[in-house]
Amino acid sequence: MNIFAIIIITAIIIETIIDVGTNYLNLRNLNQDPPKDLEGIFDSTEYTKSQEYTKTKTIMGFVSGIFLLSITLCFWFLGGFNSLDVLVRKLEFAPLATGLIYCGILFLASSLLSLPFSIYSTFVVEEKFGFNKTTVKTFTLDMIKGLLLSIILGGFLLTIILFLFGNESTSQYAWILCWIGIILFTTLLRFIAPTWIMPLFNKFTPLENGELREKIEEYAKSVDFSFGNIFVIDGSKRSSHSNAFFTGFGPTKRIALFDTLLQQNTNDEILAILGHEIAHQKCKHILITTIIGFLTSGIIFFLLSFLINQKGLYDAFYMDYSSIYTGIIFFSFLYTPIELVTSVFGQYLSRKHEYEADKWACINGQDGNQLISALKKLSSHNLSNLTPHPLYVFFNYTHPPLYERIKAIKSLTINKTE
Ligand SMILES: [Zn+2]
Repeated sequence: MNIFAIIIITAIIIETIIDVGTNYLNLRNLNQDPPKDLEGIFDSTEYTKSQEYTKTKTIMGFVSGIFLLSITLCFWFLGGFNSLDVLVRKLEFAPLATGLIYCGILFLASSLLSLPFSIYSTFVVEEKFGFNKTTVKTFTLDMIKGLLLSIILGGFLLTIILFLFGNESTSQYAWILCWIGIILFTTLLRFIAPTWIMPLFNKFTPLENGELREKIEEYAKSVDFSFGNIFVIDGSKRSSHSNAFFTGFGPTKRIALFDTLLQQNTNDEILAILGHEIAHQKCKHILITTIIGFLTSGIIFFLLSFLINQKGLYDAFYMDYSSIYTGIIFFSFLYTPIELVTSVFGQYLSRKHEYEADKWACINGQDGNQLISALKKLSSHNLSNLTPHPLYVFFNYTHPPLYERIKAIKSLTINKTE
C-alpha cells in the first residue's frame, strides 16, 4: 500500500468515524423532550413520529453508506478499476472516447447501485411518514430525465476536460483553461436552468393576481428589490415538503414558491419567508457562495493537474496504464479529506448566512413573529428533528437548528421594542 492509498484509506476511516459518531450522538439526543421555546409545534403523537422519522432516515443513510462504501472498496482492492480499463481499451477507440466510455460505465453502475435505496426512501420511508406524493410514473420519468441530463451535461464537461488535459499543446495550461471553462459553464447553466432545465421536472405557473401577489410586489418595492415574475411550482406532485427560492440573475430573476408552501402558510408567513430569501440576495450571500465555489474549483483543477502525473496514484489502484480519465476518478478519492474540510466550512458559512438573512428581514420590515411562526410550521410539516446534537449540526446542517434560530430572531425583536 503506497502513500496515496494510505491517505485515501485514512480519510475514509476518519470520515466514517465522524459520521457514525455524530449520528450516534444525534440519535441519543432524540430521547429528550422538545426545548421550551418549541413546545406546541407537535402534539405528543406527532413528536414521536418526528423522532421515528429521524431514526429511520439515520438508519437508512447508514446502511446505504456502508453498502456503497463496501462495494467501492471491494472493487478497488480486487483490481476492478484496472480490469475495466483493460476491457474498455480492447475496444480500441480513440483515447477521448475510451475515457468517456470508462467514466460512463462507472457512472451508470453507481447510479444503478444507489437506485434501490432511492426507491426504498421514496416509496417506503417517505410514504410511511405521509410525505410521498410521487407516482411510479413520475419517479421513473424523473430518473430517466435526470440520467439523460447528467449524461449530456457531464459528458460535455468531461469531453472538454479530457481534451484539454490530454492534448499536448494545451496540457500545460489545462487546469487554467478548465477553470475558466467551468466558470463559464456554471454561469451559463444558471441562465438556462430556469427556462430549460427546471420546467423538465416541474410546472411553473405565474402566481395569480390577488392579495399575496400585491403584498409581495409592495414589499419588494419597499426594499428596492426588482424581480421578473412570481411563479408557483407544483412541488406537491412529488412530496409534501415545502420550499421557496429564486432562480436566474439580476432584475429578471424569478421568485418560485412551492404550492405546498401556499397551502400550509398564511400570506404574512409567506411574506416573511420571502423577506428572508430576498435578504440572501441583498446580503450578497449568493454571490459570496458562488465566488467561493469558483475559487474551490480553481484549486481542484490545480491539484488535479499536479496529481494526475503521479505514477503512485495509479499504482495505488493497481493500474497497468495511467490515463487522464482514471486519474480524474482516483483524484476524486484523494480529494475526500479536503472535501471534508471545505464542506464543514461551507456549512458553517451557510448557517451564518441564515442568521444574517433572518436579521436583515426583521430589520427591513418583516415581522419576526411571522417568521418564527412560518419556521415552526416548516419544521412541523417536515417532521424536523427538534433536538439535533450540536456536533451533528456542526458537520451536517446548512441551516441552524430551529431553537437556535428562533432564539436569535426573538433577541432581535426584543432589541427592537426596547
Ligand atoms: Zn435561507
